Amino acid sequence: MIRRAMSEAEVVKCLRSVLDRIQESCKKRPQELSIFEPRLVAVSKTKPKDLIIAAYDAGQRNFGENYVQELVEKANDPEILEKCREIRWHFIGHLQRNKVNKIINIPGLYMVETVDSEKLANSINDQYGKLGYGDLLNVMVQVNTSGEEGKSGCTPQEAPALAKHILEKCKHLNFFGLMSIGIFGYDNSLGPNPDFQSLRNCREKVCQELGLTVSQVELSMGMSDDFEHAIEMGSSNIRVGSSIFGHRPPKELPPTEALCKAVEDVKLDNN
Ligand SMILES: *Cc1c(COP(=O)(O)O)cnc(C)c1O
Repeated sequence: MIRRAMSEAEVVKCLRSVLDRIQESCKKRPQELSIFEPRLVAVSKTKPKDLIIAAYDAGQRNFGENYVQELVEKANDPEILEKCREIRWHFIGHLQRNKVNKIINIPGLYMVETVDSEKLANSINDQYGKLGYGDLLNVMVQVNTSGEEGKSGCTPQEAPALAKHILEKCKHLNFFGLMSIGIFGYDNSLGPNPDFQSLRNCREKVCQELGLTVSQVELSMGMSDDFEHAIEMGSSNIRVGSSIFGHRPPKELPPTEALCKAVEDVKLDNN
């Protein structure tokens, strides 16, 4: 089936509908999880800038991208720079250390959600410090809650130590919370999503071990198919793409990323 790309008007309509659904889910949260007003991150990967500008004009401020090159291009796009002055970019993809310098100085970078090792944290910290902005860059620790091989993220057991490292050793970074992608296609009728539960448990551990309160550790979990469920389980940062911007063709990696993946696949085959 060929899906027509969405128009600006359709994107705005979908955005409003997602915002309504967020409000409804907030009402269903238990009291102890109603600490945050959930932040909607509109995931615009592979989508043209016209749709980003349309969502921005409708009031959306937080946008997520997960390919380095695409984020660099969009964040520096003259039209986006002019029309979206308060845009807040979230980097939500796997970040290689040799690409850190490409994203940390882009205009409007608000958060890197995918820090999963001390080495990566150190690299971002050092390079961000060298820019001399004098502020802190928000970062989240990505946790591989589903334990799937090949998925990025530290283990839930490693998360407290990594958060501690960021808090104590990375003076240019602001530890913002925990992020998880989780398994795709979980059937919500089976009960609480184990990935969401795992990230919540992880927060408990982080808070205990570091002496933080729950309100100091946000949770980034939930995407188009499950953001309502995620909010009801305490998510404060949901990352929604296709429900706002329409479907993406499957597995459309940009050429360099596709090539890297092909090389990795060959390596795996040879092992
Ligand atoms: C693409 C992506 C999303 C959004 O996924 P949808 O199912 O389109 O909402 C969220 N988080 C991450 C890390 C992504 O790569």
